[in-house]
Amino acid sequence: MSRKHAFQFLDLPRTMPQRIPVELRTSGDWGELYGKFGKEDAQYQAGRCLDCGNPYCSWKCPVHNAIPQWLQLVQENRIEEAAALCHNTNPLPEVCGRVCPQDRLCEGSCTLEEFGAVTIGAVEKYIVDTALAKGWRPDLSAVEPTGRTVAVVGAGPAGLACADRLAHAGITAVVYDRYEQIGGLLQFGIPSFKLDKDVIRRRRDVLEGMGVQFRLGVEIGRDVSVDDLLQRHDAVFLGTGAYRYTDGGLDGQDLKGVLPALPFLVQNSRIVGGDDPQGRPIAGWEDQIALPDLNGKRVVVLGGGDTGMDCVRSAIRLGAARVTCAYRRDEANMPGSAREVANAREEGVRFLFNRQPLSIEAGADDEAIGVTVVETRLADPDANGRQAAVPIEGSESLLEADVVIIAFGFSPSAPEWLSAHGVEATNNGRLQVGGQGRLPFQTAHPRLFAGGDAVRGADLVVTAVAEGRDAAASIARLLAS
Ligand code: FAD
Ligand code: SF4
Repeated sequence: MSRKHAFQFLDLPRTMPQRIPVELRTSGDWGELYGKFGKEDAQYQAGRCLDCGNPYCSWKCPVHNAIPQWLQLVQENRIEEAAALCHNTNPLPEVCGRVCPQDRLCEGSCTLEEFGAVTIGAVEKYIVDTALAKGWRPDLSAVEPTGRTVAVVGAGPAGLACADRLAHAGITAVVYDRYEQIGGLLQFGIPSFKLDKDVIRRRRDVLEGMGVQFRLGVEIGRDVSVDDLLQRHDAVFLGTGAYRYTDGGLDGQDLKGVLPALPFLVQNSRIVGGDDPQGRPIAGWEDQIALPDLNGKRVVVLGGGDTGMDCVRSAIRLGAARVTCAYRRDEANMPGSAREVANAREEGVRFLFNRQPLSIEAGADDEAIGVTVVETRLADPDANGRQAAVPIEGSESLLEADVVIIAFGFSPSAPEWLSAHGVEATNNGRLQVGGQGRLPFQTAHPRLFAGGDAVRGADLVVTAVAEGRDAAASIARLLAS
């Protein structure tokens, strides 16, 4: 029974599920920060939706979720139907409910913004966690097998979304990944305090239940060639992600105690997850580092994106004495989610805005002792509205540090074995898809498709999901023709 009444949004404030107390987080609790709504809370929060008639939330959501409709089903406690509706548009809804920067997407465009947006992401997580725990699974009973098979290269969100939609189209998806577990950056990049790794294990069970097959620890281009894939399968989807670090070119970036962000996060995730407390190499992972002991250390993280936020918050949980994030623009221009910045601040991270790193300074044993930064001011906006950070002469200072983590972002790198098949890439490594005479997400090779970070450059889970989903629709069209 719905408990909604008029102006519920005024009577009940927007609330998020309870969070792990800050004292636990700062003493090394790696559990998911936000808990789960119970039935009553979910119904009340869903009931705050005005059903305004202009669902900007759905429009701003990259997969265009039917948000007002599933909020209504939650109020009526029709959770399995709500879960089915969530899955209609989003093959990984419980993941997106956890990791989307909702303040920039669905919730940021909620009509109720002035009164506190509906907590859309937390309700999405509630719906899918509840339904899956009750045994609900995607219904494929009406699907007619086509006898076709597609190789999906990469078990990240783009590849998993593509595999899910292929299964719905009666096409067998065989997912190859160089790592021993599925998830891509969901497993090996995003820390467990944002996304519990059991969520990925459960999703694997769901996909396997739908007939999706996984071939893990297999690197395409090394263990199996793309020619082999094209011979064995009717088409191939490339969801290989973006793993080339943006190199700041800083003097001193090779000193002891200077770490690139992703290997730091990956190694730490594996230790926290108990996958490999000894830090043995991951098959296929070239960029492994020995994780230094951060206990009692001064850590400086360079960069203000989501990766930077994950690094500062991981360093806090690893016992660092002081964690500073230096970013060259101001807070309003930070690319990281405002919610994550607030959580980091609460955990004791110090933010220094308008500071551009110039060099990393060396001690007597070639170890990093700090970062020389210069203060910046923002120039007038250019034609794209972007404001350059202009250094202020004479404002240099040293940020003392024992450990420096570089988090300047990533871009894709198109593998050579693809160019032999005519697949084009931009100068910055993004695979070229679509355009005249091609299906959406089809490359210059008619049976090779691509999507996610490999095509867009480093972006979001939900945009990778959207592209994997839509690429599967194109593949199904090709195979039906
Ligand atoms: P990936 O997730 O990178 O998956 C690509 C997969 O392809 C990998 O598993 C890789 O092993 C495999 N692969 C590559 N080459 C081969 C090959 N030759 N053979 C076999 N397998 C191969 N986004 C959010 O929305 N919210 C967040 O909070 C967030 N936090 C982030 C934190 C960090 C630290 C990072 C790095 C990114 C974060 N992102 C976040 C971005 C998000 O994780 C990515 O945009 C998303 O994972 C891209 O999905 P994908 O499937 O395109 O690529
Ligand atoms: Fe919001 Fe992301 Fe869910 Fe879309 S998928 S409704 S943007 S949390």
